Amino acid sequence: MADATVTALVCRECGRTYPLEALHACDWCFGPLEVAYEYEAIGARPLREEIAAGPRTIWRYRALLPVDDAQPVELGGGWTPLVRAERLAAELGLGELWLKDDTANPTGSFKDRVVSVALTKARQLGFKVAACASTGNLAASIAAHAARAGMVSVVLVPKDLERAKTAMAAVYGATVVAVDGDYDEVNRLCIELVAEHESWAFANVNLRAYYAEGSKTLAFEIAEQLGWRAPDHVVVPIGSGSQLTKIAKGFDELGKVGLLTGDESAGVRISGAQAEGCSPVAAAFERGSDAVRPVRPSTIARSLAIGNPADGYYALQSVRRSGGAVESVSDAELLEAIGLLARTEGIFAETAGGVTIAALAKLAAAGVVRRDERVVAIVSGHGLKTVEVLGAAAEPCATVPPTLEAFEAAVGEGLTERAATEEVLACR
Ligand SMILES: *Cc1c(COP(=O)(O)O)cnc(C)c1O
Ligand SMILES: [Zn+2]
Repeated sequence: MADATVTALVCRECGRTYPLEALHACDWCFGPLEVAYEYEAIGARPLREEIAAGPRTIWRYRALLPVDDAQPVELGGGWTPLVRAERLAAELGLGELWLKDDTANPTGSFKDRVVSVALTKARQLGFKVAACASTGNLAASIAAHAARAGMVSVVLVPKDLERAKTAMAAVYGATVVAVDGDYDEVNRLCIELVAEHESWAFANVNLRAYYAEGSKTLAFEIAEQLGWRAPDHVVVPIGSGSQLTKIAKGFDELGKVGLLTGDESAGVRISGAQAEGCSPVAAAFERGSDAVRPVRPSTIARSLAIGNPADGYYALQSVRRSGGAVESVSDAELLEAIGLLARTEGIFAETAGGVTIAALAKLAAAGVVRRDERVVAIVSGHGLKTVEVLGAAAEPCATVPPTLEAFEAAVGEGLTERAATEEVLACR
């Protein structure tokens, strides 16, 4: 049904239209292609009822997704918790703070949203092989969803990736190929591979227009979970910039189809978060420039380590248009933020989540994210994926023989004091 309201692929640059096939760039100007919808027709439907009757997954929003299928390729991704974070808000000097906990997705990252859409479309187009260039989480998600769909998967990743990410992809049965190069080199190789292997569906290359749409569901869920109200400010990590760009598009669409309460158009401020060791979008924002200059990544936030982000320019535009900012944080700051988030809210984020929370802290301190705003931060991936960066923070505070005396001597009194003062301190 929703297919009828998806009209074409449209070039973001020159506006030429293309059929709804596996095409990754405009033949005319090489601009990226984007899915176009007939919003008037969609808005005329009883959307809130359709959505409320839908599954508790991203597919409840099928009216605004680029492919409809009674049995999509999925593992139940999406509809993750939106939790009020009062303790973290107090630490950061903020008022109403919410966390979108995408660590709860089936393979532990927000990539399950985009992959479910991409592979559902790929299957519909007749592809039998699912592939991707990945900074890690995409590889794991592609491998899991391909397994679910009975497809073969091939994933290309930079070598030296976190062990958990390659391990997941391998165990789910993907052919995992580590490339001696950074993500940007892996991506370039995949663009060449698309030309050689026309029967392979590269989620983020020839299926990118469909893949990207999956990130809109973050905006849809946030609004629905807030009672069909848009937040004032959302803080989003930036790798390729696709997630941020499509969250902005998602809030726009909610306004267009009349899903928001009252007559508020979304008007959501969107801010981006990058790691200092790979911050081409933050640098362009700071320079006041439209040109996102490629960099060579050097950061422990591997899932965001894209030096030449495909949607960096569009992410920058979305941020500027909305009145947000792009902040960058050091590896030390992101590690600190992983601990702060875990200790205050019980959510264990990977390095990308640390980047987002650390950037939120800086933006709050600078008064860019304001105390009077309803703020949502996206926690995009699970901490078990990146435990190797934690060092001593992930170790026991003491190792003792199995006796009462030894336990009491090592930690007993300190722990009681800690509970009494409610201080959040490590015991060492
Ligand atoms: C891929 C990824 C991102 C960045 O998303 P982009 O669409 O590439 O900007 C953020 N967080 C995590 C955990 C990711 O895996
Ligand atoms: Zn074009």
